[in-house]
Amino acid sequence: MKRKCEVCGVTYEAKHPRAKYCTTRCRVRNSRGAAKPSTDKNPLVAAITRELEAAGKLDTMLGQTALALGARMSGTDTGAGVASLARELRSVMVAAVGSSPSAGSSAGRDDGVDELRARRDKKRAG
Ligand SMILES: [Zn+2]
Repeated sequence: MKRKCEVCGVTYEAKHPRAKYCTTRCRVRNSRGAAKPSTDKNPLVAAITRELEAAGKLDTMLGQTALALGARMSGTDTGAGVASLARELRSVMVAAVGSSPSAGSSAGRDDGVDELRARRDKKRAG
């Protein structure tokens, strides 16, 4: 059946009669804004929160996504659902805390210095 996503407004083919969102992303986005899951008593979410805090990433989009995924995992009974959520959560956490060798290089970039240098060179040339 055709449904209109409550978050982004896209029309999509709903697999479940109770589905409200086109994708997991939209569902997560909505849960961030509207119904906040109670995360305090959840050990998984607590652990995620600690890791994100240690990395200083708690307030980032990825950090909040990881928290939402953790909350979802704790409320999911089916093994398949948990497995795919766990996979998604792990990749989000890697991206958020930068523990992957390929993901962590953006923090120490000195683009500003390069730009200054380029500007100075331009001035000298002109
Ligand atoms: Zn959507």
